[in-house]
Amino acid sequence: MSKSLNIVLLGPPGAGKGTQAALLLKEFNVLHVSTGDMLRSAIKEGSAVGKEAAGYMNRGELVPDELVTRAVVERLSKPDTAHGVMLDGYPRTINQAESLGHALAKMGRKLDGVLYFKTSDAVAVQRLSGRRVCRKCAKNYHETNMPPKKAGVCDLCGGELFQRDDDKPETVKNRLKVYQASTADLVEYYRSKKQLIEVDGDAAADKLFKDIVALFKNRA
Ligand code: AMP
Repeated sequence: MSKSLNIVLLGPPGAGKGTQAALLLKEFNVLHVSTGDMLRSAIKEGSAVGKEAAGYMNRGELVPDELVTRAVVERLSKPDTAHGVMLDGYPRTINQAESLGHALAKMGRKLDGVLYFKTSDAVAVQRLSGRRVCRKCAKNYHETNMPPKKAGVCDLCGGELFQRDDDKPETVKNRLKVYQASTADLVEYYRSKKQLIEVDGDAAADKLFKDIVALFKNRA
């Protein structure tokens, strides 16, 4: 692979970005940086960032650009990102996309592509409502698409599986609305920069994984 591969995973909540990132990690030597995971950890730790973010997240709203950008830039400045990153859930606004562009340029890096998971609302809702997460190691499952071997228990660490508060029906609706209002514009933004690579987000995870690997093998 090239020295470094920096890609953005773009698409609505429930597009399967996290699932693909977990699979791609095994294929490419890049780090998975999920702003949702970072913010959930900050809440768990009770940090100042977590305290500020919690209310927005519980309502399914975006946390302020400045807060999340600061966290991402700090993360990107750590040496373990040198081989590249898969950014999952960031950027979510044009403002964040511009901040990311400036930050990468300052570090002498660039985006190699924006993988856009084109996904229908029906599929996104089905995935979000069935998603279950391990309380201990944060591995994701799905009640029907990707069930654990034993109901309610993580295959990897034996931790308890739970449903994220923001995966409950009322918040899911709001998250999809927020995506349309704030994030969907990024598709055109990156298309106009000729950075957009479109994949079928409705496809089953294993099929989509093969498609993505084929796309990036040539660049890696
Ligand atoms: P996710 O796990 O990506 O679905 O993110 C969960 C929640 O974290 C979102 O609904 C937002 O409240 C917040 N969040 C994550 N990433 C961002 C971002 N780039 N900008 C603003 N809010 C974010």
